[in-house]
Amino acid sequence: MERTFIAIKPDGVQRGLISEIVSRFERKGYKLVAIKLVVPSKQFAEKHYHDLKERPFFSGLCDFLSSGPVLAMVWEGEGVIKYGRKLIGATDPSKSEPGTIRGDLAVVVGRNIIHGSDGPETATRRSGSTV
Ligand code: ATP
Ligand code: MG
Repeated sequence: MERTFIAIKPDGVQRGLISEIVSRFERKGYKLVAIKLVVPSKQFAEKHYHDLKERPFFSGLCDFLSSGPVLAMVWEGEGVIKYGRKLIGATDPSKSEPGTIRGDLAVVVGRNIIHGSDGPETATRRSGSTV
């Protein structure tokens, strides 16, 4: 069965949004198969977002991801990689549709509360890792 890696970023954890976000995935019908609260190292954050290393916000993004606890999860279900991203909404919360997690719960792109893997390769890599 298809699996994906989803993480609630430090802003989502600090704002107390864990249960709200977990329940949206549960209510959709996906199955939670792994969950762990971790503080990623800066090195881990840089690896995680290595595709974005040329972007001007890369360093700030990695500093932020490693600034506090992150809730790392693996979710399972048919089409969960693509549909999970739909539940999450567009990267920039000012453009995310209402009804999506970012659309309902976030305002700015640098604090968009949640990460979802964008394809089978990244989903498998992250789901298989310790975080
Ligand atoms: P994620 O990988 O976190 O699920 P995404 O796949 O929707 O997000 P990416 O293009 O992979 O979007 O960007 C990764 C993260 O980098 C975004 O979630 C956001 O936190 C940050 N980011 C993207 N664009 C900007 C920007 N213009 N300014 C600041 N931060 C940004
Ligand atoms: Mg991404």
